[in-house]
Amino acid sequence: MPASLRLRVVLPLPLPQAFDYLPPHGETASASDVGRRVRVPFGPRELTGFVAEVATVPDDGPAGELRHALALLDDAPLLAGELLESLRWLARYTHAPPGEVFATAIPAPLRRGEPLPDTHAWAWTLTPEGRGGIGKLRSGTRPRRLAELLRDGPRDEDALATLLDDWRGAARALARRGLAERVAIPASRFAPEPQPGPALNDEQQAAVDAIRATDGFAALLLDGVTGSGKTEVYLHAIADCLARGRQALVLVPEIGLTPQTLARFRARLGVPVHALHSGLSDGERARTWAACLRGEARVVVGTRSAVFVPLPDAGLIVVDEEHDASYKQQDGIRYHARDFALVRGKALGVPVLLGSATPSLETLHNARGGRYAHLRLQRRAGAARPPAVRVTDVRKRPLDAGLAPETLAAIGAALDAGGQVLAFKNRRGYAPVLLCHDCGWSAHCRRCDASMTVHAGGRRLQCHHCGYRQPAPPACPDCGGLALQPQGVGSERLEEVLAERFPGFPVVRIDRGTTQRKGAMEKHLDALGERAGILVGTQILAKGHDLPHLTLVVVVGVDEGLFSADFRAGEKLAQQLIQVAGRAGRASKPGEVWLQTHHPGHPLLNTLIAGGYHAFADGELAQREAAGFPPFAHLALLRAEAQHVEAVHCFLQAARSTIAPQPSNGSDLELHGPMPAPMPRRAGFQRMQLLLSSPNRRALHGTLDRAVLQLYELPEARKVRWSLDIDPVDLY
Ligand code: ADP
Ligand code: ZN
Ligand code: ZN
Repeated sequence: MPASLRLRVVLPLPLPQAFDYLPPHGETASASDVGRRVRVPFGPRELTGFVAEVATVPDDGPAGELRHALALLDDAPLLAGELLESLRWLARYTHAPPGEVFATAIPAPLRRGEPLPDTHAWAWTLTPEGRGGIGKLRSGTRPRRLAELLRDGPRDEDALATLLDDWRGAARALARRGLAERVAIPASRFAPEPQPGPALNDEQQAAVDAIRATDGFAALLLDGVTGSGKTEVYLHAIADCLARGRQALVLVPEIGLTPQTLARFRARLGVPVHALHSGLSDGERARTWAACLRGEARVVVGTRSAVFVPLPDAGLIVVDEEHDASYKQQDGIRYHARDFALVRGKALGVPVLLGSATPSLETLHNARGGRYAHLRLQRRAGAARPPAVRVTDVRKRPLDAGLAPETLAAIGAALDAGGQVLAFKNRRGYAPVLLCHDCGWSAHCRRCDASMTVHAGGRRLQCHHCGYRQPAPPACPDCGGLALQPQGVGSERLEEVLAERFPGFPVVRIDRGTTQRKGAMEKHLDALGERAGILVGTQILAKGHDLPHLTLVVVVGVDEGLFSADFRAGEKLAQQLIQVAGRAGRASKPGEVWLQTHHPGHPLLNTLIAGGYHAFADGELAQREAAGFPPFAHLALLRAEAQHVEAVHCFLQAARSTIAPQPSNGSDLELHGPMPAPMPRRAGFQRMQLLLSSPNRRALHGTLDRAVLQLYELPEARKVRWSLDIDPVDLY
């Protein structure tokens, strides 16, 4: 009976429940409305949510109190089939409100209720007058050349852009005279002729064959040293997928999606490649999403949130640099794009290829346990050879901006030989601390428990945690002394010193400060070109970029990472070192890596240098197992913050009692806390956390299934901001 059907709507609110509405006036509900967007009144507001369910309500039920939905928005559900089911799984797994999960999965304009955008591409065609009138156009002019290009039929705007510069001006000129017109075509069909790639070596071929041999879902780890040609393997696997008429999704880390990467995919595949990343406008993102939904996008290359695109004809999912921390969303719905890609691959019945030179310990553990196929590329592709690594003991050495004399000499020698040098320092700014040499005062953020970083050559202070900025004080605020000194080295200071030392060579700094504008990094790299010179970079340069003229990599300091309390610090440091070292010697020029440290005997460095990443990973996995850390235990972190620390403590204490009413005798679940967060105050908020750990994933989630709904009800919850992070990457 249609009259008794209700829409059960989930809304983008931090509330776990669904809300019932009557269908819009004059409309009836049906089961096929599930997954459609719907506009509803909510208190005094109007919100856009999703129909999660169409439920039957008994006729004597409280229908009288129900309000009508205002409008059902899409003719066909936006979320359907596999994507809807996978998102439901994600909501259960993250213990997050489904309405928020669904909202996270769609681009902002769709979230606001705007219609699914048009994905038409545009083409130009001659009018009948135009076809007759080509001869009347003055020969050699742009309008004449454009008319000649259009003589054989309409042309895509994308294609025109590659054929004629300022074609737009010419097109307008023809249109004004009624000779040509713009027409919508289904989607851009334009793609340049695919360029052939290098012939695969044996290891690459074996990997491609293994992917080809999969049937349905499989997880495959492509574990290949830097420069071993992993991207070539992806390209072949994608070409196979396209040949079978299927769509391919490629996830790349945030700083890996460069115009260089996209251009390589576009040039090689011979089909349009859609990009999806934060540099696009909301409108562009929505168009790409819609093109995926309509099956028009055949290859999508995107960052984290691209894992949510609909894939009606899915054939392959690739996750490049699968170990990269940018795959984990750190606020809102804290999903892990790599892990969700695996869930989707399984639901879609397609292979998921995880690639890295430094696989995460979670992934290696799965590969070693036989759950993932383990494909290895142990040699660099082509003529490139692995770089030689040399550890420089800088104890007792006089340092200039952190550089030892022999390191400076090595830089000079590399430059004189015509090479390029990368000086790596993973610290933005001029110096990490401003210290008073007279009294010991140092500049702290007034809103965070953190030092202010010195910027602009010492003139400005900036907090890297909350963004707070202020001019550097002219004198010490405590003692009035004038002996304020920047301590330590950041990328700006390194740039300054290297420019002073090597005045004959260009020094180009690449960090988040110099690359905020679109395409800025390419401009900087192009400016250097093939000349001998120095790149000063933070981790932004450590991956994604092919720097073929680099012959020397200097790692200025790694010691901060050697003694961190974070159990993942060793893994992150090892990955960073291998990745940055991997920038050297990628082409035919041999490469060298100089690693400066005050701890040349540190086991992490020794193992990494003598045995490589896998030797390090063996040792690290054994330690994690002994200590009961991931991947041998599963974690969940309940974070809370408020202006007053008592409110935070009370909430987490109540949460603890809710989660584990009895002391955990013999249960699989361990609770730690409430304890202060590693940074107890940030942006003026007091922060604490409660860590849950269990060797048994089911036990952990079973407990949370029961407890999380009750957390929303706690009176203490109203005084804090709280969030639950499943499989936290950062314990901050
Ligand atoms: P990775 O993704 O593993 O870092 P790439 O696929 O970017 O490696 O390859 C590194 C370099 O080696 C690229 O310049 C690429 O063109 C080249 N290359 C890859 N495979 C081969 C091959 N089989 N023969 C010759 N050169 C290759
Ligand atoms: Zn002082
Ligand atoms: Zn701050």
